[in-house]
Amino acid sequence: MNEQLLRITETFGSPVYVYDSETITRQYNRLTSAFSNVKSLKLNYAVKALSNISILKLFNTLGSGLDTVSIQEVQLGLKAGFQPEDIIFTPNGVSLEEIETVAKLGVQINIDNLSILEQFGTKHPEVPVCIRINPHVMAGGNTNISVGHIDSKFGISIHQIPLLLRIVENTNMNINGIHMHTGSDILDIDVFLYASEILFETAKNFKDLEFIDFGSGFKVPYKEGDIETNIEELGEKLGQRFNDFCKAYGRDLTLAFEPGKFLVSEAGQFLVKVNVVKQTTSTVFAQVDSGFNHLIRPMLYGSQHQIVNISNPEGRERFYSVVGYICETDTFANNRRINEINEGDILAFKNAGAYCYSMASNYNSRYRPAEVLWHNGEAHLIRQRETLDDILKNQVEIDFRIDAELA
Ligand SMILES: *Cc1c(COP(=O)(O)O)cnc(C)c1O
Repeated sequence: MNEQLLRITETFGSPVYVYDSETITRQYNRLTSAFSNVKSLKLNYAVKALSNISILKLFNTLGSGLDTVSIQEVQLGLKAGFQPEDIIFTPNGVSLEEIETVAKLGVQINIDNLSILEQFGTKHPEVPVCIRINPHVMAGGNTNISVGHIDSKFGISIHQIPLLLRIVENTNMNINGIHMHTGSDILDIDVFLYASEILFETAKNFKDLEFIDFGSGFKVPYKEGDIETNIEELGEKLGQRFNDFCKAYGRDLTLAFEPGKFLVSEAGQFLVKVNVVKQTTSTVFAQVDSGFNHLIRPMLYGSQHQIVNISNPEGRERFYSVVGYICETDTFANNRRINEINEGDILAFKNAGAYCYSMASNYNSRYRPAEVLWHNGEAHLIRQRETLDDILKNQVEIDFRIDAELA
């Protein structure tokens, strides 16, 4: 694969994001087989993780649905060929107008606050709505998931269920789904199952449910020693519990998830070129042709992406701090063991599929990178590198000379 990656940088330049369609397909199939014990399973890929239209089209061929958080993501999904009923809209803090526009498109609406629920239900009682619950499950220590703190802005608190029920009754609206999204990593399956119990308990209040959506939060290993969510164990336990619930409920419901990271993180690699190897009295810096304008996770979340020197994979290991070219501190890695780096070498950042390109910006007026999909043994360009025209697009120039002449 290294040879192919190097060839991609020769053809398309650097920096460049490369995604492998086979890895995406494998992760998708892994999740569906883990829940093969459930009659009806729906995976809605979380668009915000990686929203390139060719990636969305790939998910469409896999039979996936989409989880969206903005009307633009909905529009992208429709453009990629998804049916409106295969899209769920799970926004937070957006206007009633945006929700109404998306509802008109036939997309499943998910509401996460009482104010909008009441307004929407009063105006459109005939539109089925899913509600996002915040179960406030937190476990102590640091190896836990937090399924929404008591002061989290997400979801409708379980302590407000009586209020919620009154709104549903008064408006006569139809609740067809119940949802939670942990927003953090599922490390402890038992804690996740506990949160699920709260969701099941809440679900009993609604007679016309079609699905229960357990959100996401599947953990992906980034560095050595990281734990991965045991999908197979989760499937076995939650699937069984879900089936029991359906029996008691009296109807077969659909079990839904909306993973982003789990489906695309590992599939992505970010390839950069080393511009300068800078030896100081204490550190050897490898300065690459990128920065947090292209990959912000290490600086924003402290994430550690594994970095491999694909130009010299057999070279002697040395310690490097890998930094960018942004005029601000942009450290990708501190004193990392990497095979000897020479200027011009290509470094590959692993796990660069999720929340990497989709969070890229033009800071320092740099171009956002190209994106390439490795599919069926071939490299396909799926987004061109930007140009100066892209930077200037939508900017409006003022002619100050005329002002000066008039003065
Ligand atoms: C971001 C998000 C997801 C995806 O989370 P991952 O950790 O990438 O799997 C799912 N659902 C909602 C509502 C989200 O906001």
